[in-house]
Amino acid sequence: VAAAACLVRVAIPSLPARTFLLRRLDGAAEAAVEAARPEMATQLIDRLLTGGAGETIDIQALPLAVHDRLLAHIYAAEFGETVSCRAACTACSEPFEFRFPLPRLLAAQDREAAGIGPPDEDGFWHAPDGVRMRPPTLIDARSGTGAELIARISSPAPTGQVPEALTAFLERASPLLSLDIDTRCPECGAAQAVWFDLARFLVQALAGERPFLIRETHLLAARYGWSHDEIMALPRDDRRAFAALIESERSASLRRAS
Ligand SMILES: [Zn+2]
Repeated sequence: VAAAACLVRVAIPSLPARTFLLRRLDGAAEAAVEAARPEMATQLIDRLLTGGAGETIDIQALPLAVHDRLLAHIYAAEFGETVSCRAACTACSEPFEFRFPLPRLLAAQDREAAGIGPPDEDGFWHAPDGVRMRPPTLIDARSGTGAELIARISSPAPTGQVPEALTAFLERASPLLSLDIDTRCPECGAAQAVWFDLARFLVQALAGERPFLIRETHLLAARYGWSHDEIMALPRDDRRAFAALIESERSASLRRAS
């Protein structure tokens, strides 16, 4: 039986390293996820996360990059390390699927972030053109993206169009898991970038499992007489393991009966 929570260390080289306690996903957390709403991913983290000593974390004040790494931890713990995306080719219109290992993406982001290093003691990075920039949080992202976001976290704030150098700097300093992935169409070979958003991907994966959650809950309630709340409080892995045992017992007794 897996531990109900694990210590997670988020160490992006451009941010101070932090340790959190992440509860394992249970049925109650899964049931709260709705497919069409990627912001459910943030609510999911909020449900599962405490500080390393069990203290409450203000998730809205977390750096965006840390938020995304926590999502990567949840994804890897529940679904493994490979992500597969579907896209339609921009050249030949054929749909295709491509897979990549999440750790490879994170390692590439870390190498870029290491070239920047952590913020100074006042909490600022030293960006190009003498601009000081602080790590954007969820609160910052809620009040605007792109140029608005950069103006909000930079001092002095750029006037007029945001220089490309600042945008590129922020991408390296605050690596996010919603990004263009460079790939190639297996049909016609055309190179293209495909948009990938881990928050959306995780929420869809969980919502897609809803029929299993209902079936597993039914199996456990029928076999053990546990209450709905008790079953929904089981870590996802345990619930699935119990359900698999019940299924194999059933098929064994069906084989004996036939
Ligand atoms: Zn193609």
